Amino acid sequence: MKNQQSNSRRTFLRNLGASASAMSLPMLGYAGNEVVQNESSGLYSILTDLDRKGSGQPGRKLGIALVGLGYYSTNLLAPALQQTQNCRLAGIVTGTPSKAEEWMKKYNIPKENVYDYKTFDRIADNKDIDVVYVVLPNSMHEEYVVRAAQAGKHVICEKPMAITPKACQNMIDACKKANKQLAVGYRLHYEPFTKEVMRLGQEKVFGAVKFVESSDGFRSGDPNQWRLKKSMAGGGPLMDVGIYAIQGARYVTGEEPISVTAQFAPKTDPVKFKDVEETMFWQFEFPSGAVSNSTTSYASGVERLYASCEKGWFELSPAFGYGPLKGRTSKGPIEMPVVNHQAAHMDGVCKDLLDGKQLPGHVTGEEGLRDVTLLQAIYQAAETGKKLKLKA
Ligand code: NAD
Repeated sequence: MKNQQSNSRRTFLRNLGASASAMSLPMLGYAGNEVVQNESSGLYSILTDLDRKGSGQPGRKLGIALVGLGYYSTNLLAPALQQTQNCRLAGIVTGTPSKAEEWMKKYNIPKENVYDYKTFDRIADNKDIDVVYVVLPNSMHEEYVVRAAQAGKHVICEKPMAITPKACQNMIDACKKANKQLAVGYRLHYEPFTKEVMRLGQEKVFGAVKFVESSDGFRSGDPNQWRLKKSMAGGGPLMDVGIYAIQGARYVTGEEPISVTAQFAPKTDPVKFKDVEETMFWQFEFPSGAVSNSTTSYASGVERLYASCEKGWFELSPAFGYGPLKGRTSKGPIEMPVVNHQAAHMDGVCKDLLDGKQLPGHVTGEEGLRDVTLLQAIYQAAETGKKLKLKA
């Protein structure tokens, strides 16, 4: 692809000949405009930013700085940022100098866009960076979101937004104070299969949803990872992937739960899981009378979202991973385009930021706070063994 483009540019320059040689390329290709050749006619045309982006759009890609270059940044976000239309990888924040070197080379990141955790606040002076994406262990989200907002940047924060509702509120307040927007890494809200089951449930396409089974778990590896330390993760699988099961029940019903009961499963490896739960279950009741049942686990895999409705059913399985997701209804398969979740998510968020629009409520800090409040309520219900009433 790259080669094709540079070939066509070379052919273009050759074909322009003498008359065009007086024209400088910057005049034609200025400010992000692009010279392209029509494959069938061979004609050249100049694509302006407006052509590419549609009218009323500023036409530039927002610069994103990734904070924390671990698994998710390295394997999912950075590669996705090579495909995005509305944003690009502009900077990095890392405590590991060797990673900084590697990323600068691999992604052509200039030295002045590279920070460590001490120099991070200087990002305020960097006009190349519009959005800070916090991809650190859960307990660190609050500090870096607040610092990013104070540096005058929009923020995307990975899920779970934080480990306490109070921390979420601090993050929301800091972004409001700085007049910056805060999105949570809810990639599935931009994913077509997920959007379809939201529609099927919320528009009652198969009648009212009566019950939902929504579960997410996997077998966790390294016994020394931060995910198994309560102080850093906030809890076990519930904080990590259980949040997807909570989201599933909420976005399929389109309702907020009014009560919760929950149970911890016995630990089969009490040494590895000395600090956090290994497997747990919970049940929500919703205002319409719909109920949901969920499992999350670090002991074994499960990934399923099933809704039983008055006149049929629908399901996704797999439902929450990086895809491709797969879905069926009582009338047949769900056919949807397969997209890169991370690219769709970052492009979706950045499109609204570029357009100067408020982000939709279901991807913002307020949504993150709702989920973290529910995470805490589930733990409380499991610890007390009682049904906990929830505020609407
Ligand atoms: P990871 O452990 O692979 O990466 C964490 C990064 O934080 C590492 O680069 C590490 O060096 C850095 N770090 C800085 N200070 C640290 C400290 N004191 N202790 C430990 N690490 C420290 O984790 P990850 O899988 O990339 O997850 C990061 C965040 O992204 C988490 O909040 C996680 O829930 C979220 N996540 C989201 C998705 C998704 O699909 N949306 C997927 C994976 C992870």
